[in-house]
Amino acid sequence: MKVLLVEDDVAIAESVATSLSNAGMNVHHAVTGADAITAAKEFAPEVILMDLGLPDMDGLDVSKCIREFSSVPIIIVSARGDELDRVLGLELGADDYVTKPYSSRELIARIKAVLRRGLTDDGSIQDQDLMEVGPVKLNIGKHQVSVNGSPVSLPLKEFELLEF
Ligand code: CA
Repeated sequence: MKVLLVEDDVAIAESVATSLSNAGMNVHHAVTGADAITAAKEFAPEVILMDLGLPDMDGLDVSKCIREFSSVPIIIVSARGDELDRVLGLELGADDYVTKPYSSRELIARIKAVLRRGLTDDGSIQDQDLMEVGPVKLNIGKHQVSVNGSPVSLPLKEFELLEF
């Protein structure tokens, strides 16, 4: 799992990066907004943790720029704990909002939750429900079977036998 960590405070970034790496995530650290935008393109993260207070740009503006070319889930991480930031962040397409200080366990749980939601929102779980073996196509979610493109009616029980 590729995580882009946008954080200008090196001490915080190091401790978060260590926790996420220990949880099996591949972490790329960006210190400035400009770095973050470049990394969002080149590193192609699956989730972004976005600090709001960055030296060159506001994290909300960075998120807005990233939204123009990517729908990657963004979790805003802020020390400001400001209701306006939360509302603006979620309005411009951020997926979650975490207030500092937070535990690494909480952060990892949020990352996993956002990724799960992302999967159901864009329908990629349904795609994984499709199986194709030669002329036979199975849609596991809908319990549909077709052979050479023609639907075959199959009792649910038999469908379950096919599946396992
Ligand atoms: Ca900061």
